Amino acid sequence: MELLLITCEDPLTRQARARELIRFPQLTMPYLAALTPQTWGVSHVDEIIRAVDPHERYDLVGITAATPGALHTYELAGAFRARGICVVIGGPHATLLPYEAAQHADIVVVGEAEWQWARVLRDIERETHYPTGVHLIDERTGANVEMLPSGARIYRCPTPASLVGLPHARRALIHHGGWNQWWATKSPMIATRGCPHQCDYCAIPLIYPRARQMRFRPVAQVVAEAAASPDKGIVFWDDNIGADLRYAKELFRALAPLKKWWTSQTTMASIRDDAFLRLAAESGCQALFVGLESVNQSSLNGTRKNHNQVSAYRQLLQRVHAFGIALQGGIMFGFDEDNQDIFARTVDLMGEIGLDNATISLMAPYPGTPAFAKLEKEKRIIDYDWRHYNGKTHVVYRPKQMTPEQLLAGYEWAKTQFYAPSHIAKRLAISRTGLWWNIPRNLGYLFGLTGEARARRDATSSEWRIASGE
Ligand code: SF4
Repeated sequence: MELLLITCEDPLTRQARARELIRFPQLTMPYLAALTPQTWGVSHVDEIIRAVDPHERYDLVGITAATPGALHTYELAGAFRARGICVVIGGPHATLLPYEAAQHADIVVVGEAEWQWARVLRDIERETHYPTGVHLIDERTGANVEMLPSGARIYRCPTPASLVGLPHARRALIHHGGWNQWWATKSPMIATRGCPHQCDYCAIPLIYPRARQMRFRPVAQVVAEAAASPDKGIVFWDDNIGADLRYAKELFRALAPLKKWWTSQTTMASIRDDAFLRLAAESGCQALFVGLESVNQSSLNGTRKNHNQVSAYRQLLQRVHAFGIALQGGIMFGFDEDNQDIFARTVDLMGEIGLDNATISLMAPYPGTPAFAKLEKEKRIIDYDWRHYNGKTHVVYRPKQMTPEQLLAGYEWAKTQFYAPSHIAKRLAISRTGLWWNIPRNLGYLFGLTGEARARRDATSSEWRIASGE
């Protein structure tokens, strides 16, 4: 039996990311491949690197996608299903809107795959049929399958999966592409899952069952996977690797002898702890992603991100840099408390404190999140085209204190300013951290701005076409 796994990337976002110089591969599909029995042959396409050929022959196609990739996923699924190939859709968007995904798939997997994937495959192999309705399929975990009148089925598991004994991701299925399509590492992995916070625009609290309850992989198992990886660099795709300081410190101590380099994401709450930073640095941490999100404290409070304190940004960044760690800040525009001065205030403060890099986005209210519910209740959602929920190319709701056009223009202006050569020089002169990779990374973002501009132009000038065809 032949299985194709697709890490879906909507063409708009792919184009926006085309010129990134440092990029990391997603973990989901290499990991799902590791959960797949050896009786299946497995191929994998990450659309950041390569287009899918829907004419190839497989017994099963599995696609994972976030909200911006949903429509592209449905197009791909349609192309395969038209040839009689069974399609499974999972990932964040299918978890948020399973009944929508089920209109385009034979099978939808909601949430985590660990306790469901083997059962899904077994049901396919045995051609198991279920009558319409919901059927319990595993007493221990409460996993169930809902058979829809259309014939599609939705698998769910309400119990959080254990992280003990996870297999190592199948890195051989992470492929480099041609020029400028190289991954910075082929070693994505996780140590923890979940996040104790509940920022109102974030989909994490909806995607995992009991997401606020942290789960931990045994440190020895993480270290074994890191040691087995041939790459010097590792990306930990944890939602918040510093959520539990005790676990994080134990992990860092155990990682240090491997002399790897690594990066991950955490929150301001953890980087207040000097021992966390010291041990992270000693274990090879080169950079941390932290969602700063805003320089406006009322915006942070309004979105339930009040574990961030704007007044502490400067001091915290100095401490992170003092340990030789760079900070990639997440910055988001479009909160209700933002007015038009937010753009210049953000650019100025980030320059003054020497932020190394920033992922600058428009607030994208994913369906099902409290942010989406509020905007919908206030009738402020103006665009339900999921392709536009990428936080890069479109404003999908009416902001409170400016027009959508002003928000988009301000966001674009801020990005251009942040990645202006003079601003890069100013920030990195203050940071002085990891310049050998930090300078190329900034230049990558600078070049990436061209890709985003092209993506916006193309979005308005033509319908999207799948690689098949047309
Ligand atoms: S801290 Fe980050 S991962 Fe946690 S809920 Fe907020 S945005 Fe999501």
